[in-house]
Amino acid sequence: MTSSPLSGDPYADLVWDAPPDDWAPDDLDAPPADDGWMPPPEAARRPASAATPGIRPSRYPSAAAALHDVYGYDAFRGDQAAIVAHVVAGGDAVVLMPTGGGKSVTYQVPALVREGTGLVISPLIALMHDQVDALTANGVRAAYLNSTQSPSERADVERAYVSGELDLIYVAPERLASPATAALLQRGRLSVIAIDEAHCVSQWGHDFRPDYLALGGLADLFSGVPRMALTATATAATHREITERLRLPDARHFVASFDRPNIQYRIEPKVDPRRQLAAFVKDHAGEAGIVYALSRKSVEQTAEYLRGQGVDALPYHAGLDAGVRARHQSRFLREDGVVMVATIAFGMGIDKPDVRFVAHVDLPKSVEGYYQETGRAGRDGEASVAWMVYGLGDVVQQRRMIDQSPGDRTYKMRLGQHLDAMLALCETVACRRQNLLGYFGQESGPCGNCDTCLTPPDTWDGLVPAQKLLSTIVRLQRERGQAFGAGHLVDILRGADTERIRQQGHDRLSTYGLGADLSDQDWRSVIRQLLARGVLVAQGEYGTLGLSDASAAVLRGEAAVPLRRDVLGRGGGGGSRPRRAAAAANLGEADQPLFEALRAWRAGQAREQGVPAYIVFGDATLRALAELRPGSLAELDGITGIGAKKREAYGDAVVAVIAAH
Ligand code: ADP
Ligand code: ZN
Repeated sequence: MTSSPLSGDPYADLVWDAPPDDWAPDDLDAPPADDGWMPPPEAARRPASAATPGIRPSRYPSAAAALHDVYGYDAFRGDQAAIVAHVVAGGDAVVLMPTGGGKSVTYQVPALVREGTGLVISPLIALMHDQVDALTANGVRAAYLNSTQSPSERADVERAYVSGELDLIYVAPERLASPATAALLQRGRLSVIAIDEAHCVSQWGHDFRPDYLALGGLADLFSGVPRMALTATATAATHREITERLRLPDARHFVASFDRPNIQYRIEPKVDPRRQLAAFVKDHAGEAGIVYALSRKSVEQTAEYLRGQGVDALPYHAGLDAGVRARHQSRFLREDGVVMVATIAFGMGIDKPDVRFVAHVDLPKSVEGYYQETGRAGRDGEASVAWMVYGLGDVVQQRRMIDQSPGDRTYKMRLGQHLDAMLALCETVACRRQNLLGYFGQESGPCGNCDTCLTPPDTWDGLVPAQKLLSTIVRLQRERGQAFGAGHLVDILRGADTERIRQQGHDRLSTYGLGADLSDQDWRSVIRQLLARGVLVAQGEYGTLGLSDASAAVLRGEAAVPLRRDVLGRGGGGGSRPRRAAAAANLGEADQPLFEALRAWRAGQAREQGVPAYIVFGDATLRALAELRPGSLAELDGITGIGAKKREAYGDAVVAVIAAH
């Protein structure tokens, strides 16, 4: 899908892996077979009154009642209350909220409060299944229509819908395009229409789904039913496209802050990436996480290395057999503490709320990509970490990939700008979050929860080393017409005695040995930062270093060159962080054993039922239980995440676990 000429994916020809196979055929819903169904007579489509049989009656008198009884939440968060009130009153809404912001509640609650059934359009079968499982566990009558079902299962769902027995029905966009499905939906009564992952309608985004374009037609098919478009994509262009293409001219717009305060951002220089990664992952022992790498090969090698280190790591990329991918994904979702090592093919539509870390061992190509990938951590709002190592090699490699991409100049320039913004985030001496949110047009102060805030980096004056390096490059080029990569240039500057230096006579250059005061690592840091700022450029197939327009001013000493001093293992990963689960990080020492006991109980329950642990209870609920230690069923009321259905199902068991500790 990503390689579609329509998608305009700026990275289509740069990705190392095949397009994300979240949209791969094995997960895409198949178009419905023509089941010979005929549209119902006009009469069946007229709006029904409250007493009409076959129309699902309102189950909850108010939004607050639904929130408490079904989900066990005491209050709406952020914009949720305003969105729900607006939609319950019949208004259309465009909702931009970051991952983990709580979008589901904003369409599920109106569906529960209004008369009729809520229709949710969701692009992925896996997403639909997760949501229906979670709703069912909360006692909501939800079902989906997709190609994984047998005709008789589908017929059951259709019958239940038409007779008004469903609170919510999930349907894939391609299925909705069929007249038979539209006609079926018209035989019942819809309370609200929610278009999830609405950015899939954007032809310029990398998740473009042609079937989303047809969803604008819902405006005519179901006039009078409030419609919502929801997405976690932040850019203004996508926002405008959603509004226009989904035909929501009168919608109210709810744009939340895109900050994810529970995610700690950390970016370290890449020195020995595997060892650095292993140290970081071991710091999060027993927690679920995703490690992103660019190439399939590096995914496999990294997963193998981590397994050798005793980590329960699994590889995932588009080149793996579909069965293997499905198995790995299912283990990641259902078991505690699995680490998925993956290309960007993995993650979209993964609703797992308790991913505690996202690690990058290669530089993402844009800030958007970085934000989206790191955003898969901590959907549940609990403390999580986004960690990355990046180095000189990443910069050289990505510049080269842009250089060699087949696009025209404007296209390459755009890719270059994406990369520059990403590098600026990596090299900033200011708050990472401030930089990240600033990129999306949102102003903020220093966050206190990123590596630069926690340990402000030193800067040092890099002018003289920069001049030594640049003049070495100038001499080689002018006097001998030669160009070299970083490794050899550093050897010259440090006065190394290598075969190549002797052969080329580079020990006779006037800058030979002039930079012996800096270590190899220091020099790589200097070069990386000069590249990031465009004072140097990497050229050609081998990434040789050359001068840029900005080099002259530095050579003449007319530009300042403040550099960030690299520190390894800053703000944890190197061991400064206590080795306990991030979910339990806010818990007192005394409550930890109970938290762990509840976690073990939850794992048993999940295994027994064959559902992911978070379907039983989220980490936030376990934390509240460990802290508040309710001693009776009555005291469970008010614990976040325990609604009526779960109190009935698990209440006694949970109280017993607590009593035993
Ligand atoms: P999104 O779809 O925006 O990524 P979700 O709807 O999956 O977010 O919600 C993210 C998490 O926040 C879930 O674990 C959910 O249970 C929790 N949540 C949502 N709304 C509330 C609320 N009002 N109170 C407490 N927890 C909430
Ligand atoms: Zn910060």
